Amino acid sequence: MAQGIPDEVLMNSALIKELAEEAKDSAVTQGVLMRLQETPNSSEVVSFAPFTLFPTPVPKAVFSQALAVQTHYNTLVDKISQDADFLQEALASTITVDDFTARLFKIHQQILKEGRSQSIVLGLNRSDYMLDQRENDTPSLKQIEINTIAASFGGLSSRTPDVHRHILKMAGRLEESERILDNNPAAGLARAIAKAWELYGSEKAVVVFLVEDVQRNIFDQRYIEYELWKRNIHVIRLRFEDVFKAGSLDQDKRLFVDGKEVAVVYFRNGYMPDNYTSEQSWDARLLMERSRAVKCPDISTHLAGTKKVQQVLARPGVLERFFPDQPQAVQQIRATFAGLYTLDLGPEGDKTVSMALAAPERFVLKPQREGGGNNIYGSEICQVLEQVKESTERTAYILMDKIHPTPVRNYLMRQGSPLKISNCLSELGVFGAYVRQGKDMVTNECVGHLLRTKSSEHSDGGVAAGVAVLDNPLLF
Ligand code: ADP
Ligand code: MG
Repeated sequence: MAQGIPDEVLMNSALIKELAEEAKDSAVTQGVLMRLQETPNSSEVVSFAPFTLFPTPVPKAVFSQALAVQTHYNTLVDKISQDADFLQEALASTITVDDFTARLFKIHQQILKEGRSQSIVLGLNRSDYMLDQRENDTPSLKQIEINTIAASFGGLSSRTPDVHRHILKMAGRLEESERILDNNPAAGLARAIAKAWELYGSEKAVVVFLVEDVQRNIFDQRYIEYELWKRNIHVIRLRFEDVFKAGSLDQDKRLFVDGKEVAVVYFRNGYMPDNYTSEQSWDARLLMERSRAVKCPDISTHLAGTKKVQQVLARPGVLERFFPDQPQAVQQIRATFAGLYTLDLGPEGDKTVSMALAAPERFVLKPQREGGGNNIYGSEICQVLEQVKESTERTAYILMDKIHPTPVRNYLMRQGSPLKISNCLSELGVFGAYVRQGKDMVTNECVGHLLRTKSSEHSDGGVAAGVAVLDNPLLF
């Protein structure tokens, strides 16, 4: 590709070897770090987080489009979270067959019944896109999904630009190195957390990062934590288990853990069934939801990020419900939708089944899961649909058009892996942050981006799953 890294660089194996060694040093020096798989809970020995040797060309127009629509996505997620009727209707079929979503929904209902004890809402999300390349057309921006809980890599992605700048300079590509954008999602995410903390209004109260047992990606979170410490906001890291053992509510529903009042709970865990290792995890989640602490996300915002909701939003007229007087916002959001199809029982769902069975390679079949590695592709779509097509079980899935980005050659840098050229596909993420108090949107921002790249051999999976690696857009 003319806009990318030329063959004279890509195919010069002596140069590539040298650049790869430089890149590892640069990544470690810049703090693009991850703990080792063997020692996920120790920082005694760490390595670089996986990244691409070179940045990936991304057209300026689609990049700007993705940034520009983000504040509308923030508003949309926030409005959905406040629309109990919509969530009930959208998730009705899903919760009859998907136990995890049903469990989350039950907490949501309990909170509605009791009444929310906190009017401050903190939303940190990441909307992910791929660039669909159809023949000779200009590529179009298509949303893969929006993550409303535990969206990661806002920290590490603030450290990768300098690595790519350095490598491009070493490769004699000064002009390209100057096209790598600054990026600091961690600062923006922390700014919103700090705002929520301030509105909560207790100087002594802490911010809790609710984290997993296995903490390989801790440094990504640390960048956000340190931004809070800089503002003299205390951060503590807790697991569900810790909250279960040491957490309680006082009579005003203030959350205390080990005697410390909690202003904000920022979930970096809790997005998939395995995160809830016992009933105690669910009890802890419920305790936090019922409390007066600001939850990021609260249970309704978590549900607003489900794939079923994404599919329902793509139906005619649904976006208009949330933006009755903003045709421009509707148009900007809708332009990013890929084809999404219901598998609910009835004629419409039947049509989806026959369409998928007739041309499975055109689609992705998605269950209501997060965290990568759950989607179904190709002939496996037929196997699964043949099994479930006559039963309510099929409503656990949605069907989506498969997006086809242009492959770009690059080297994926992974600790312990041999250096080899790969055909790669990229996914652009955009971070959004907002704080609402009652009816008042206090802040609503787009706070940065993330480019992740994987070998085209893999159809699924993120950085944490060991498939994708960190990258930067090279705008053209
Ligand atoms: P998860 O919540 O598990 O991250 P995603 O919807 O983000 O689920 O899908 C995981 C991965 O599968 C994406 O990162 C992307 O690589 C691939 N993928 C998902 N949807 C599509 C699609 N419509 N077309 C092509 N690839 C897709
Ligand atoms: Mg994803």
